Amino acid sequence: MDRNVGVNPAPPLIDRFGRQITYLRLSVTDRCDLRCVYCMKARPDFLPKADLLSLEELTILCDAFIARGVTKIRLTGGEPLVRKDVLSLIENLGTRIGRAGLKELCLTTNATQLPRFADRLAAAGIQRLNISLDTLDSDVYRRLTRGGDVNNALAGIAAAKAAGLQVKINAVAMASINEVHLPELIRWAHGEGHDVSLIEVMPVGEIGADRSAQFLSLRDVCATLSDRWTLTDLPDNTGGPARYVRVEDTGGRLGFISPLTGNFCDSCNRVRVTCTGELFTCLGKSGRIDLRHALRNGGPAALEHALDDAMAEKPWGHDFDVSPGAGAAVDRDMARTGG
Ligand code: SAM
Ligand code: SF4
Repeated sequence: MDRNVGVNPAPPLIDRFGRQITYLRLSVTDRCDLRCVYCMKARPDFLPKADLLSLEELTILCDAFIARGVTKIRLTGGEPLVRKDVLSLIENLGTRIGRAGLKELCLTTNATQLPRFADRLAAAGIQRLNISLDTLDSDVYRRLTRGGDVNNALAGIAAAKAAGLQVKINAVAMASINEVHLPELIRWAHGEGHDVSLIEVMPVGEIGADRSAQFLSLRDVCATLSDRWTLTDLPDNTGGPARYVRVEDTGGRLGFISPLTGNFCDSCNRVRVTCTGELFTCLGKSGRIDLRHALRNGGPAALEHALDDAMAEKPWGHDFDVSPGAGAAVDRDMARTGG
């Protein structure tokens, strides 16, 4: 006999604007082996390890979200693959794919650890990776990441491809830093069979630098690329914030994620949870719900209430501003929030 007959399923997560939350971005660590200039300070204050959710707590959280209708989970960070034992979390969550409603488990990574992990990620059920790579130029990469070696990232991307993982390259477009290197990056990625998404730098976190100097409008990038290549609009909608074109000259797909010049909040289907269990209802707002407190002090019922509270509080959207002197929209950086 089916033991669930007569049991009401948990209600879906629907916010007060009628948007259903089906996508969870979960940061598993705030630590990273790189120090990208748009993401964190040169000497970040990392959280005490005791503040982080355990792997077991992270699993309980994911199960609670899946039960409430989340179909896609992206693990991120910081750099998710520098967390010790993260593979056991991924392998555990991988067993939920295809049952209990989880359709996709994916990862955002800087690729440096992929030579070690790509095969096991594929075996765990991960099919797609978002890989952050802002330039192929080794000097620019070293400057942007404050000391990274682009060859490590390239070796990781090659390992992912060899393991059969589908790769999308994400590049943050930065004025006078990687601006002139973007066409080369796009041509290379398309040649390797990878989609590319360009991202506008967001004023998230105090990074010890002026955001307005970093900001590059993707409208301008698109116009410059159109002078060089034929870009054909694509109707593709992956449920995300990117607008896609096909670059006829390379045959590849190029996305533009423009939180500043093309706000996409009306179709928002996601929430972010940090490695300490803070649920942020919007990337650009400071509203938060403490899921760790609910988990540790209240148990399953408190967790359910906390998720309901989050739906009641999720704001309509962000109002990022990168004009000179505007400062950060929120004080937490991307590595802590989970990009
Ligand atoms: N370490 C992993 C990586 O770099 O892919 C995952 C975490 S990282 C915070 C996730 C994404 O956020 C990366 O694609 C990164 O480029 C992006 N990111 C970080 N800070 C950003 C900012 N201020 N504006 C826009 N994107 C940012
Ligand atoms: Fe690390 Fe990713 Fe932030 Fe770069 S963007 S510092 S790789 S967390």
